Amino acid sequence: SLKAPRGDDQSLIVALRIRPMNEDEILQGATPISHCVDDKMVVLMDPLDGNEDILRANRTRERQFMFDAAFDGTASQKEVYEKTSKALIPSVINGFNATVFAYGATGAGKTYTMLGTDDDPGIMAHALNDLFLEMDKSKESMKYSVRLSYLEIYNEMIRDLLHPETGFLDLREDAKGVQIAGLSEVNAQCTGEVMEILIRGNRERTQEPTAANKASSRSHAVLQISVQQQSRLRDVTQQIRTGKFFLVDLAGSERAANTQNRGKRMVEGAHINRSLLALGNCINALSSMDKTKLRYVNYRDSKLTRLLKDSLGGNCKTIMIAHVSPASLFFEESRNTLVYADRAKHI
Ligand code: ADP
Ligand code: MG
Repeated sequence: SLKAPRGDDQSLIVALRIRPMNEDEILQGATPISHCVDDKMVVLMDPLDGNEDILRANRTRERQFMFDAAFDGTASQKEVYEKTSKALIPSVINGFNATVFAYGATGAGKTYTMLGTDDDPGIMAHALNDLFLEMDKSKESMKYSVRLSYLEIYNEMIRDLLHPETGFLDLREDAKGVQIAGLSEVNAQCTGEVMEILIRGNRERTQEPTAANKASSRSHAVLQISVQQQSRLRDVTQQIRTGKFFLVDLAGSERAANTQNRGKRMVEGAHINRSLLALGNCINALSSMDKTKLRYVNYRDSKLTRLLKDSLGGNCKTIMIAHVSPASLFFEESRNTLVYADRAKHI
């Protein structure tokens, strides 16, 4: 298929991260089926089913995908942050909105990339760290305030991860834009205290066992960082700019059909599929050079796209980091993820 020319400003960046094989996969006799050819190209191999003519099959088993950046199991948290999200920091400080999504099947490494661990923090902590460093450079002339909210969207319902006891919250759209009524905010002064808050919030996420994975995340987790900038100079019009930075750890993208889900689990699967599809459609339309397509962006299709309405498209920068396991056990999931991420780039 023909690839559309990309916008000069690269308002959408699509990256792919392949995590290292884990012990469990090795014990199950899995072989690696995906790897990076260079810093942009990824190859996925269809594992043989045993009945094929190997020579003939080898030619058709491989499929290549190109991304703006590709990372394998050797890439550090810092490298992934620096080659994807770091570039968004100045625009957020200057009042623009930006979003980073982690996409992929359960267990593919989304939470590791976004939140990370205490010892090896992910994009959330690196981004906050850089925000504080960058703001410090202009503190003589500018006054800043950084506020954080952390929420989850589960079955199209919104919960505050910092105050789960508040119950379900309403999403409203008014003159000021999209608002979540009753969502708590914390003032952030440094990265250290924030990381603790985020790890605590992440433990509040709705995690229900499914047949596919015991600790599967069925919810989207959204960290919203609002940065307010105001000049300290008297003779400057007292204009306040607010940039919103959304860091989104999406629900597992594995299909409901792949897990032996019944009842409640099947409803979750349907909601997740619907919101990931709505998101893909929005990103797809927004990244399109054909501006007539913009009319058809349907934000109303899911809570997630409604929440991000003011932060996708226009002057807003969007980064999608898709995740896969390298193991042959997850061929279907990896192929689906690569196709979804690939599709996000094209018309
Ligand atoms: P997801 O959020 O997509 O369900 P996780 O981020 O929880 O997946 O990753 C599953 C497991 O793999 C976790 O134990 C995590 O620490 C580990 N992991 C994921 N990505 C990496 C990586 N790049 N390097 C090392 N370990 C990883
Ligand atoms: Mg997770």
